[in-house]
Amino acid sequence: MYVVMVAAECSPVAKVGGLADVVFGLAREAELRGHAVEVILPKYDCMRYDQIWDLHPSYHDLWVPWYGGAIHTTVWFGFVHGRKCYFVDPHSRDSFFNRRRYYGHDDDPMRFAFFCKAALEFLLKSGKRPDVIHTHDWQTALVPPLLFEMYARGGMHRQRVVHTIHNFKHQGIVSEEILWATGLGRPEHFFAKDRMGDDFNPTAMNLTKGAILYSNFVTTVSPRHAWETRFTEQGFGLGHALHCHQSKYGGVLNGIDYDTWNPQTDWHIPHHYDAREPQAKYGNKEALRDRLWIRKEYKPIISYVGRLDPQKGVHLIRHALFHAIGNGAQFVLLGESPDSAINDYFFHLKYHLNDNPDCHLELRFDEDLSHLVYAGSDMVIVPSLYEPCGLTQMIGLRYGAVPIVRSVGGLADSVDDRDYGWKPSHERNGYVFHDADYGGVMSAMNRAIGLWYDYPHEWRRLMQQGMYYDYSWNYPGHHYMNIYDYVRDK
Ligand code: ADP
Repeated sequence: MYVVMVAAECSPVAKVGGLADVVFGLAREAELRGHAVEVILPKYDCMRYDQIWDLHPSYHDLWVPWYGGAIHTTVWFGFVHGRKCYFVDPHSRDSFFNRRRYYGHDDDPMRFAFFCKAALEFLLKSGKRPDVIHTHDWQTALVPPLLFEMYARGGMHRQRVVHTIHNFKHQGIVSEEILWATGLGRPEHFFAKDRMGDDFNPTAMNLTKGAILYSNFVTTVSPRHAWETRFTEQGFGLGHALHCHQSKYGGVLNGIDYDTWNPQTDWHIPHHYDAREPQAKYGNKEALRDRLWIRKEYKPIISYVGRLDPQKGVHLIRHALFHAIGNGAQFVLLGESPDSAINDYFFHLKYHLNDNPDCHLELRFDEDLSHLVYAGSDMVIVPSLYEPCGLTQMIGLRYGAVPIVRSVGGLADSVDDRDYGWKPSHERNGYVFHDADYGGVMSAMNRAIGLWYDYPHEWRRLMQQGMYYDYSWNYPGHHYMNIYDYVRDK
């Protein structure tokens, strides 16, 4: 099959969160299975250009229709660790993608609407006719309506779309303006409740709702979350739309890229190890302590790696930090927040704990350091309020850092409690708590810290059991290929 991914992120060139890892990992897996895959991304000025090989203009004069006129655009091509990527570079005064950050601008809906339009225009004009176009999240949710309402008539009637929703909180609630900019027009048509009209705001359109309606298949990133979004408040108002389209909706648990995340070969870490011989992991623990000025004592290290977003249970992360250092453990936090109030709070906390030799807060995004944090930690904690999939716990498992998680979404699908799990005891791999409160976090942490101190052999066994799990793209890749094959025009 010929698959084109249209996405706002792709690891490691343009990464804000898990979306980037999924786009790269799935593209790679599909290629390994013999399919042709290309990725279309915006050409951001803040990308990691050192991770792109042979970047050169591929389509010089693409004129993308925009309002009454057209925007002159160049499409670049380059390899990102073997993946074939196209980068959309519009030359307009709006400077859509030269803003020094990926998101967080007032005109984000316009920026990404342009991106969707440009991606389709590029496919049309360059003669590319993929079997499947795979779009991701609200930024690219306008592709399915554009394809079926406009481009199908222009020669792209055989293309099919799979849309993956990575985070229901961000749906793309936009105004009528988008319709005029992209040439879709006809607000009375698109604002209908059974099309893209938002269910809660009569003057707005919901792009994710549109993608659910127009796509040939819709997925989210874990089976549990697929259920949660239909039947609980975690659908953020889209439960009804999902219900109406339930026959083409499902959850596929993400994988992680086992080349990038491999403690046997990872060049970011000084000591290599695997599930059979995990001893060298402790060399990394020392290296992590050296790097972050944490004292060398016989204590477990618990870490949190991730965005400091309210979704992640920020108050529970803070509580876990204090509970760890008050109960014989050390704590490492690597994260940053898009919300300046949360960032300020954690900077304040960092200052307050500056002299504490048992913890370290690194408040920035650092992919390279994250590898050492996973390799050097005994446990990773993920106390999310909701979590569509979550990659941190899977990376933790791979690196022998036992996950302590709340039982939501993909966390519940990937971690089984050592003491109370439903799997046979030799398949359990972490600690799970249910209530999103301090008591929940503490109960799971106490059990983990207790086992680490009192039964080191048992601890080692638990750690190894986790490392033996296969959370690569192998299984999810298989699921997605089935979905692609199911929807494509045969
Ligand atoms: P989300 O997609 O909600 O951000 P996930 O758990 O799915 O959360 O994915 C997070 C990914 O981003 C993981 O690969 C994690 O290691 C990485 N990550 C998050 N924050 C940071 C950071 N500050 N530094 C390095 N890597 C980070």
